[in-house]
Amino acid sequence: MDLLSIDSLSDEQIAALLDAADQFAAGASASDRHEGRIVFNLFYENSTRTLMSFAAAAARLGATPLTLPVEQSSVKKGETLADTALTLNAMRPDALVLRHGANGSVAAVAELMDCPVLNAGDGTNEHPTQALLDALTLRQHFGRVEGLTVAICGDIRHSRVARSNRKLLERLGATVRLAGPPSLLPDELPGRGEIGAAIGGADAVMMLRVQRERLHGELGDGPGEYLARYGLTAERLARAAPHAVVLHPGPLNRGVEIADEVADHPRSLILRQVANGVAMRMAVLDLLLGA
Ligand code: ASP
Repeated sequence: MDLLSIDSLSDEQIAALLDAADQFAAGASASDRHEGRIVFNLFYENSTRTLMSFAAAAARLGATPLTLPVEQSSVKKGETLADTALTLNAMRPDALVLRHGANGSVAAVAELMDCPVLNAGDGTNEHPTQALLDALTLRQHFGRVEGLTVAICGDIRHSRVARSNRKLLERLGATVRLAGPPSLLPDELPGRGEIGAAIGGADAVMMLRVQRERLHGELGDGPGEYLARYGLTAERLARAAPHAVVLHPGPLNRGVEIADEVADHPRSLILRQVANGVAMRMAVLDLLLGA
């Protein structure tokens, strides 16, 4: 089995992953469960949270995580993604965690591999383990996901996090509102986008990073302008429900999409998301590595 998309998972598997991750988050030990197994990490795009939490998760399951330093690899000699995948496959890893800038690339690699492949982000398409850890974080805080209203705001156009979260949170019975600057909304979402309205009364506000690496400079905002017009300031957060929590997948552009005082707010769950990233990736690797 591969984890390419939220669509890869049945409702039963999602429920089981949330329960297992809850136990790992509470400290359940599984340190000898996958001893002798090897998990390869292959990241063509930068990462701190996803890469390190997959590595930590594999280690906490007793498996050995091995990370290819792509910048020093034969990728730099022009080796194609397919040849790199076939090369790694010949070393017989027990799982491959892959992040790549092209939509659909992880699914294409999965066709070539004999082991389970996990999507750690493919272009602007999906980032399923991020959505799973976000759902876990919301469920831990509220005791449920069903019935929550979650506003996902910012650079929706480039966000694989938004796409996976929308699918997962709606499947779990939440209402998802998407909003962002007009130029950062996908074409299929015309007429949406007023951030204050999306945040109004919401139980949770998930802010997204402005992905300047995918923007080619076309945003044209001056210093402080994005925060003032579209960012999560304390004033905007005050429009949400009084109990509303703040999420952000990271990395943060402080002072751009999120004000310092909101990022560090008592109702910010951003570091809880990071902690849950290890627990959820343990659950996901445990499922895919099998018995
Ligand atoms: N870390 C997340 C991702 O890789 C979000 C971001 O980079 O803004 O998709």
